[in-house]
Amino acid sequence: MNSISRLWHYIRDYRGHALLNAGFNVMAVIFGVLSILVLKPFLDILFAQSTRVTSAPATPSSLLDLDDFVLDWFNFQLTTYLGDKGQNAALGLVCGVVIVIFFLKNLFRYLAVYVMAGVRNSIERDIRKNLFSRFATLPLAYYAEERTGDLIARMTTDVKEIEWSILRTLETFVRDPLTILASLLMMVAISTKLTLFAFVLILFIGLVIGRIGKTLKRPSAKAQQQQGTLVAIMEEMIGGLRIIKAFAAERFVGDRFDELNDDYKTTMTKLVRRKDLASPMSEFLGISVIVILLWFGGRLVFDGDFEASTFVTFIMLFYNIIAPAKTFSSAYYNIQKGVAAADRVDEIMAIAPEETVAETELTPNFERDIKFDALGFEYIEEQPVLQDINLTINKGERIAFVGQSGAGKSTLVDLLPRFYDPTQGAIFLDGKNIKDIPLRQLRQLMGIVTQEAILFHDTIAANIAFGSEATQEQLEHAARIANAHDFIMETEHGYQTRIGDRGTKLSGGQRQRLTIARAVLNNPPILILDEATSALDTQAEKLVQDALNKVLQGRTSLIIAHRLSTIQDADRIIVMDGGKILESGTHEELLNRDSAYRKFVELQDF
Ligand code: ADP
Repeated sequence: MNSISRLWHYIRDYRGHALLNAGFNVMAVIFGVLSILVLKPFLDILFAQSTRVTSAPATPSSLLDLDDFVLDWFNFQLTTYLGDKGQNAALGLVCGVVIVIFFLKNLFRYLAVYVMAGVRNSIERDIRKNLFSRFATLPLAYYAEERTGDLIARMTTDVKEIEWSILRTLETFVRDPLTILASLLMMVAISTKLTLFAFVLILFIGLVIGRIGKTLKRPSAKAQQQQGTLVAIMEEMIGGLRIIKAFAAERFVGDRFDELNDDYKTTMTKLVRRKDLASPMSEFLGISVIVILLWFGGRLVFDGDFEASTFVTFIMLFYNIIAPAKTFSSAYYNIQKGVAAADRVDEIMAIAPEETVAETELTPNFERDIKFDALGFEYIEEQPVLQDINLTINKGERIAFVGQSGAGKSTLVDLLPRFYDPTQGAIFLDGKNIKDIPLRQLRQLMGIVTQEAILFHDTIAANIAFGSEATQEQLEHAARIANAHDFIMETEHGYQTRIGDRGTKLSGGQRQRLTIARAVLNNPPILILDEATSALDTQAEKLVQDALNKVLQGRTSLIIAHRLSTIQDADRIIVMDGGKILESGTHEELLNRDSAYRKFVELQDF
């Protein structure tokens, strides 16, 4: 029951609609049973068997008599009409009634799913919305562990699973039991004896046929594992094609693949043959059951217990029960699947967001200095990436970080906007631990330009403004500083050109300048810059460099520098190696020493 309440939690907001769905389903079930009952008079007329009933049935005294009453009433009305108007007219009447009842039954059936479609998709939207907004608040460290695929799976497959499960829950608790109940009532009205007999048969169907079907349809672990290996080999092949060709190893790789491919074929053939057996087998068992019922019931008809047409009606009612009885038996399993999916979604919702301090009214500002104090960091335990970093950056200083790839430069600057939190020591901004500054306000102080220019499928204007409400003048001003205005005006729709649409290919330098314009517009006092290395040609580099020089004016900047020109212009150069600060000073100071820096410069190797 606990699991049902878990799913109910999602439906709660739409309980009005869920009730409406239930109401329509009740109507659909009623007309569904009626649609079977009207078959009887139809058959009676065809077989010209109806005998005139002369008196109207007495009003039923209890609910159990209701079905008897319905049947008798039908019979009375019909035979009266038959006597008065003749066979043809009666047939016409019955056909009319059949059409109307089937129309109503299907109308209500449709109305029920019509309402439900809205509920299901609204619930799905709500879960997706919650998840998506949650993704943005997850700490970056969460993504570092290559969980992207898993997150996307939760957002798609699991959300769908919940949606299905909710639908099934509603069906299992409203429609199916009602269908079974209503049909059973009618069956009992026709013959208690036959119903009891049928009931035993239903149990048999549910247990035996269900069990056999499930065994036959079971997926094979072996096939899955073989398929996994096949895919892995294909990936290897595509990824390593250069090497395979270079070593002329096509045959070797091909043989290995052929062998596995063959094994997979054999396993799958067996599996498919087994699965294909499920349907003919259950049909045969099913019809065997019906035949037993026909045999038993047929003898009751011979004995005069009820008319042949009544018996046919009974069989139809029985048939009406089979499908809901089957789903009812697998309901628990289906609901459990939904609950498992809900658990996976809730796991994400339960991760602590990165924000730790409540936002305040204060507008953020930066007055004096940034201080890294005995800072240490490790992505993976026991593997320090930064150690013992002590560094004070004064307001207005331009700092260049140099060092070999993997020295820890990017990690160090990532700690300032708190993409990660230090595992040792702390960072102070104007003497205040940045952990105590609300994240949004901390990040408002910083502009970040990364090596890859990250742009989104939107207009150029939106990419520059990026959520802020900037006027066209402000946008243009920022674009001019970033040397981007001219090329923007040359695109088809200027600032309204959509990036990523066909025909709007931007060069690396242009993309880079758009992200610079984005940083300028924000006008942050601190700028963090990961300099692009070789992606740009000389002309493009000059434009980007020029833009950056304008942007850096009067700001405090931390630059991961790769170009000698940038490094020379810096107020201070920090040379990093193996997660530690190796040396620091101005270009001249460092050159005049026997420094690692001098070797860098000589080799032009940043
Ligand atoms: P740099 O910017 O100087 O090239 P990085 O800060 O990118 O250096 O990397 C420093 C070290 O941290 C490297 O050894 C790198 O492999 C490791 N590293 C970087 N990012 C991650 C991460 N997300 N998870 C685990 N290790 C990482």
